[in-house]
Amino acid sequence: MNEEEVYSKYLALEEKVKNYNPGLNVPRLRAAYEFAASMHGEQRRKDGTLYITHPIAAAEIAAEMGLDEDAIISALLHDVVEDTPATIDDVRKNFGQSVADIVDGVTKLTRVTYTSKEEEQVENLRKMLIAMARDIRVILIKIADRLHNMRTMEYQAHDKQRAKALETMEVYAPIAHRLGIQKIKWELEDLSLIYLDPLGYTEITAKLDSRMPTLEAFMDTIKNRILGRMQEYGIDAAVSGRIKHIYSIYRKMYTQNKSLDEVFDLCAFRVIVSDVSDCYNVLGHIHDLFKPIAGKFKDYISTPKPNMYQSIHTTVVGPEGIPFEVQIRTWDMHHTAEYGIAAHWKYKQGLGAEDAGEEKFAWIRTLLESQQDSDATEFVQDLKIDMFADEVFVFTPGGDVINLPAGATPIDFAYAIHSDVGNSMISAKINGRITPYDTVLQNGDIVEVLTSKTAKGPSRDWISLAHSTKAKNKIKQWFKKERREENVEFGKAAFEAEMKRNRLSPGDLLDDEIVSAALKKLSVSSLDEMYAAIGYGGMSTARAVNRFREEVIRSRRQQLEREKTDKLISDAPPAASSRPVRGIVVQGLDNCLIKFARCCTPVPGDKVVGFITKGYGISVHRAECQNYLNSRARGEDEGRWIDVGWGETGGELYTTTIAMNARDRNGLIVDVATVLNAAKVKILSMNMQEVGGGKAIATIQVEVPDNTVLASVMSRLSLISGVVEVSRPGV
Ligand code: MN
Repeated sequence: MNEEEVYSKYLALEEKVKNYNPGLNVPRLRAAYEFAASMHGEQRRKDGTLYITHPIAAAEIAAEMGLDEDAIISALLHDVVEDTPATIDDVRKNFGQSVADIVDGVTKLTRVTYTSKEEEQVENLRKMLIAMARDIRVILIKIADRLHNMRTMEYQAHDKQRAKALETMEVYAPIAHRLGIQKIKWELEDLSLIYLDPLGYTEITAKLDSRMPTLEAFMDTIKNRILGRMQEYGIDAAVSGRIKHIYSIYRKMYTQNKSLDEVFDLCAFRVIVSDVSDCYNVLGHIHDLFKPIAGKFKDYISTPKPNMYQSIHTTVVGPEGIPFEVQIRTWDMHHTAEYGIAAHWKYKQGLGAEDAGEEKFAWIRTLLESQQDSDATEFVQDLKIDMFADEVFVFTPGGDVINLPAGATPIDFAYAIHSDVGNSMISAKINGRITPYDTVLQNGDIVEVLTSKTAKGPSRDWISLAHSTKAKNKIKQWFKKERREENVEFGKAAFEAEMKRNRLSPGDLLDDEIVSAALKKLSVSSLDEMYAAIGYGGMSTARAVNRFREEVIRSRRQQLEREKTDKLISDAPPAASSRPVRGIVVQGLDNCLIKFARCCTPVPGDKVVGFITKGYGISVHRAECQNYLNSRARGEDEGRWIDVGWGETGGELYTTTIAMNARDRNGLIVDVATVLNAAKVKILSMNMQEVGGGKAIATIQVEVPDNTVLASVMSRLSLISGVVEVSRPGV
C-alpha cells in the first residue's frame, strides 16, 4: 500500500465521521492524521503495510461506534506515545488535554500485561482495565485497537497469536459484551477462536459452507414468509436472516456435547420496525405464522438488559420442524444492540469536560453496577463493578491483580496479601522502585513487598498510613497480641491480690468445676483470657473474684452435702478398742467411726478437727480446711465440731491429694512419676489437664505416712522444670 492509498483510507474515515458528525473540525482531524503519519513514518506492520494503516483502521472502527471528534483523533494517535518518539506533551500541545488524557489512558492499558489466570483473577483484570480507563472512550478505543489487531493477526508469530487470542476471549470480548457492543463482541470471539481452536473453527465453518445452500434456501423461505405477512398488513419492516456467529455455535456444541448437525437453531432472524407498538404487532404475526416454543420468549423491551439492550426474542418452529430465533426491535434499539454504550455517546463538545464527565460517569457507573445479566449462561462472570471512584487495582510481581480501596498504600497491599507479609514488611517497591509507605497506589502499579524474618513488626503510625479497615485491624490486632503477655501478667497479679483480700486460696483455681463455672459466668474461655481482660482494663478484678467466690461457696456447700451422705464410711473398720482408730484419737469418745474428709485429705502431723456427722461417725478435717473455716465463720453447727488428734500410728499409709500447677510440656508426667518413685511414695492416681495458655493442672493422689514425707515430696515436685505451684487442695 503506498502513501496515496493510505491517504484515501484517511479520506474515507473523514467522510464517515462527517456523516454522523456534521460539525466535525476537519482540519483538526486531518492534523491528527498527519501527525500520526509523520510520527509512524516508515514503520511497518508484520504484514508489510505502513504502520499508519493500523491507527486509521482503529479510528474507522471508533467511527462505526459513532464516537466524538476527540475520540476519533485519539484513535488516530493511540500508538504514537508507545511506538514513536512523540510524547504525551506533544499530543497535549497539538490536540489538547482531553485527547492527551485519552491517548495516555490507551497507552497505559497497552502496557498491562496479561497472563491467563483463574476466573477471579481475570474478572479483576477486566475491572482493572475499566477502572484504569477512567474515561470510557479509552476502553472503546482499546477495543477498536484490539479488533483491528485481531483482524490482522495472520502474520504474527504463533505464540503471540495464541496469547492475544486468549486475552481477547477472556478480557476484551467480555468487556465488549458488558458495554453492549454485541457486534464487536461476536467478531472478537470468532477471531479469537481461529487461533485458540483452529480445528474446531475450521470444522464448523467447513460444515456450514457445505450446508450453506440448504441454509440459505431455508433462510430465504422464512424471510419471505415474514416479509409477505408484513406487506399484507402494511407494516414497514426490514427483515434479515443470518447464521449465528461461529463461537456461539462452537460453545453450544461443546457445552451441550452436540455435533453441528444436532445444533438446530443455527439461524436467527431479525425484524426491525420503526416504533415499539409495531414490535408487539410483529410478535403476534410471527406467533401466528410459526409455532412458538414455550418458555423461549423474552421481552427485553419492557425490561431492558443492564447494558441497555432492548429487543423481543422468541424461538419458533419452522415448516420442517427446524427451530429458529426471531428478534424484533426498533431501529433505535438496533443501533444500541450493535454499538451499545457507544451508540448512546452523549459527549457534548460544547460542555466543559468536567461537567460532561460527571454526567457520563454517573450513567456508565449505574449501568455497570446494576449489571445483572438475566442470561446467566451467556455471561456468567457478571460481577458488580465499583468503577473509577472507590477501587484501585494493582499487580503483584507474579501478575495477580489485587483489588484495594482507592487511596490504598503499600501497607494495605502487604496486609491484603497476608498479615504475615504485613507484619514482616521492611520496605516496598512500586514499579521496581523503593517507595515510602504512604505512597498512594495507582491502577496498574506493580507492587512488591520486601519482608524479613527479623522485621520488628508494624509501627503505630502504620495504622494511619493504611487506608483499608482490613489492614488497620490487622495492625491493631498485632499490637493487642504483642501486649497480651503483659496484660496476662498484670491481670493475674491483680486478680490474685484480690483473691487474697477475699480470703480465697489460689488452690481454688485448681478445681475445674469452680474455674469453668466462674469463667462461663464471666464469658471468657480461659484463665489467661480473663487475666488478659483484667490487664487490658476490660474486666474489673472485683467482678472476676466475686464470680469465683460464688462458685467456691457453692462448691463447698455441695461438698458438705456429699459428706453427709457419704457411704464411704462403711470402709472404715470398726475399732476394737479405745486405741486410736485410723490413727485418730477422739477426746472422750471411744470406738467411733472415723473417716477423713475428701476436701482436705489430712495426714498424720496435720492439725486436725472432727465433725460429728449425722449417722456416719466423725469426719476428720485439717484445721486449715476452708470448709471448716467457713462453717465456723458462719457459726453453724457450732456444737458438732470437736477436738481430735493423732495417736500413735503404726506405720499405716494415708491417702492424700497434691495439686500441681505447671507449664504443659512433654515428659512432665514422667518427671513427676520419677520424683515420687524416688521418694517411695505410691501414686494412686494422676490426672493432668490442659487449661489453655500452655498451662496444665495436675491432681495427684498419693499414699504417705505423714505430713513430713508429704512436705518433702511436695518440695521435690516443685523443683521439676516447668512446675509453677505445688499445693494441697482444700485450703
Ligand atoms: Mn494499536
